[in-house]
Amino acid sequence: MDKITLSKMVFEGHTGCLDFEKKDGQKFIVTLELYVDRIKGCYTDELNDTVDYANIYEVTKEIVTGDSGNLIEHLAQKIADGVLKADKNISKVIVNVSKPEAPVMGIFETMAVTIERRRKEYVILSLGSNMGDREDSILKAEAMLKALSGVEDFKCASIYETEPVGLEDQPYFLNTCVGFYTDIDPFDLLDKIHVIENELHRTREVHWGPRTIDIDIIFYGDEVIMKPELTVPHPRWYLRSFVTVPARELKEIGLEHPDDKEVSLYRKRE
Ligand code: ADP
Ligand code: MG
Repeated sequence: MDKITLSKMVFEGHTGCLDFEKKDGQKFIVTLELYVDRIKGCYTDELNDTVDYANIYEVTKEIVTGDSGNLIEHLAQKIADGVLKADKNISKVIVNVSKPEAPVMGIFETMAVTIERRRKEYVILSLGSNMGDREDSILKAEAMLKALSGVEDFKCASIYETEPVGLEDQPYFLNTCVGFYTDIDPFDLLDKIHVIENELHRTREVHWGPRTIDIDIIFYGDEVIMKPELTVPHPRWYLRSFVTVPARELKEIGLEHPDDKEVSLYRKRE
């Protein structure tokens, strides 16, 4: 990731909990770190192939000078949202909002908040269960995923019943996919998935063997991650009709699978 820094921009703002802060205003200092996946301008030397610094400055200025809220935390969030909206090439932003004249008795250089926000991506997860109350495990896992902070527009595909793949001498699976927008970092999302799997008493005894719940990350936007602990898109997603069939209900994946007819519908969602 390449990084562009707009540092220590000074504005007059009115954010604060106290009446006189809202009325009189005070100095706010904002630093932005903008992350871009390979700035094209590095190679082309064209102005249009990088972030428009002046525009980002103006967007930030407008937000800071126009805000009349209570918290610099909330102001920082507005700036992060504004910056990510202003330029689609920025995939992550770190915003530092500093208030050196904060009305606090004592000696200090400044009081500041730093937040890191990434662009929301559309994520598809595959869920499967072939042990215990399969449908119950799937529904519980879905509810826990939906409840995660940072998950939006959560949708579930129909549930399908499918023959086991890999290790064949085991019960049939119920499978589905869920799709949502999120700014949870992919590796953090995997950690949260592991917590959910553990809570639903998932044990890892046999590789590809029976499990109460298996949750895999199929797509994370267009991101490509090639680490042993996380490979995205999932390396075998297109070979598995128990993924392609429900996933197609949530996202255009442009692929017909020869075995797609072999998964049978178990339950549609309302
Ligand atoms: P499987 O899903 O292949 O049947 P597990 O659920 O036991 O097996 O996963 C084993 C490991 O695979 C996980 O601990 C995780 O770190 C890793 N992994 C790699 N890529 C992914 C992915 N896209 N989604 C989920 N887990 C993944
Ligand atoms: Mg898994």
